[in-house]
Amino acid sequence: MTTVQLHDLRFEPFISEQELGRAIDVVAVGINAKYAGMRPLFIGVLNGSFFFASELLKRITIECEITFVKVASYHGTTSTGQVHQLIGLNERIHGRHVVVLEDIVDTGNTIEHLMGVLADHQPASVSVAALLFKPAAYKKDLPIEHVAMRIPNDFVVGSGLDHDGLGRNLPGILRLIKD
Ligand code: 5GP
Repeated sequence: MTTVQLHDLRFEPFISEQELGRAIDVVAVGINAKYAGMRPLFIGVLNGSFFFASELLKRITIECEITFVKVASYHGTTSTGQVHQLIGLNERIHGRHVVVLEDIVDTGNTIEHLMGVLADHQPASVSVAALLFKPAAYKKDLPIEHVAMRIPNDFVVGSGLDHDGLGRNLPGILRLIKD
């Protein structure tokens, strides 16, 4: 794949679809082992997690359920730190083993907020599975237990991740070309 222009920014190939697939395989093996017999409830955080949720769930072989919520918190190429309301949580969480599915964990603001909201519903346990994790940007103590790939603090798109609405459909992960 060559470089791609999205609005005002140019992106270059960074992680291939195949490499992502292999990393998701590993996450799925861990979750299948940990949650066997526990019927976990996966909660995908929209919009970005649709790709990861789909790819991960294809590989989950144990009994499970999935639902989606929406949290809007990000505009442009740096995290604003502003987190809005959680929309669409209709399932009964009480006593359930919950696995939150995120496209990417950057500063951790979004996931910390979400964990706070979920804790109010008294789940039996909550863990986080993320397609991408930026350890250098992460500011929280909460463990991100299931991570497909750790990446540097670059702005990336593809596989569900966008730049102002564009790029979610691109296969693999592309990173911003800085000039
Ligand atoms: P956090 O709250 O952890 O700082 O950011 C989480 C959200 O910010 C993600 O769900 C995602 O929507 C957005 N985000 C963080 N880093 C990136 C990135 O490199 N690329 C894109 N497209 N979105 C990002």
